[in-house]
Amino acid sequence: MFNKMIAGILPYFPKKLVWIFSKRYIAGETIEDAIRVSKELNAQGIKVTIDILGEFIKDLSEAERNKVEYLELIDTIQKENIDGNYSLKPTSFGLLIDKEVSYNHIREIVAKAASYGNFIRVDMEDSPCTDMEIELFRRLKAEFPDNVGLVFQAYLKRTLSDLQNLMDIHSDEHPNNYRLCKGIYVEPAEIAYKKYEEINQHFLEDLEFLLKNGNYVGIATHDKPIIEGAYKLIEKYNVPKDKYEFQMLYGVTPELRKSIIEKGHTMRVYVPFGKEWFGYSTRRLKENPKMASHIIKALFYRG
Ligand SMILES: Cc1cc2nc3c(=O)[nH]c(=O)nc-3n(C[C@H](O)[C@H](O)[C@H](O)COP(=O)(O)OP(=O)(O)OC[C@H]3O[C@@H](n4cnc5c(N)ncnc54)[C@H](O)[C@@H]3O)c2cc1C
Repeated sequence: MFNKMIAGILPYFPKKLVWIFSKRYIAGETIEDAIRVSKELNAQGIKVTIDILGEFIKDLSEAERNKVEYLELIDTIQKENIDGNYSLKPTSFGLLIDKEVSYNHIREIVAKAASYGNFIRVDMEDSPCTDMEIELFRRLKAEFPDNVGLVFQAYLKRTLSDLQNLMDIHSDEHPNNYRLCKGIYVEPAEIAYKKYEEINQHFLEDLEFLLKNGNYVGIATHDKPIIEGAYKLIEKYNVPKDKYEFQMLYGVTPELRKSIIEKGHTMRVYVPFGKEWFGYSTRRLKENPKMASHIIKALFYRG
């Protein structure tokens, strides 16, 4: 109730005040902010994936602008020698307005990353986007077999079968490359698991399928029981270090993050930045008011 209330009134707070809550999770507004944070993380032996904030655009002219911003970002980050790749959300390129236009924009971005031998992670958005984002991944992987990957959400009941179906484009030479996470959107109970235990059980089931079958996995979670479960699966299948990594969000559970790195696993942190941070933070909170308590907690302690 309290979380819902906070999430509801936050959009009406002055931006400066909301920034106090949000700055722990967002690098800042500019590319320079993203570079600074990425270099700090790189210095701690952590890779990054950089995301320009924004999603669900209303006008295709915004898609063009967003593409140009990503192309510039990639050139800048490569010049700065940052150890990282890029994440993007297809709805920022008009997925829900014109699928073909969004495909062409994202294709250009993947081609740019590929020209540097780098990689684009296509974030997974809410369930009306799932089929379209899988199709997008299939098309892009056909042209750029090592430079693009997709995200799957363990809370969706369809996920294991999606992963099984996608084995038709997996090979030892060009393994499918995924990020596996719980999922952040509020989805109906007909299509999504709702209970913590159920989601965790399916996360580990999906992860086992991926590791057993040689897919590359970014294990994206801050949840200790899942991390412990992942360690066991890595050991059980003797998974080599170049077939998986752990991933966390910028500013979340840095102590747990450190403990994973100390065990010798690869860690990548998701670094969001951009002018859209205010809308992004407040929308996220409205979608998932539970996040309000995390943000409030962040005010009082770190770790
Ligand atoms: C790198 C990365 C990329 C992601 N990409 C996507 C995506 O493309 N699509 C998508 O739907 N979702 C994405 N997510 C979000 C994900 O789906 C979950 O909503 C989020 O990670 C929280 O789930 P959890 O596994 O950490 O477990 P939870 O059970 O939610 O959290 C476990 C514990 O982690 C801590 N924690 C979690 N979140 C926070 C926070 N914000 N602040 C402080 N503490 C916190 C708390 O201690 C909590 O008890 C991504 C997450 C990560 C880490």
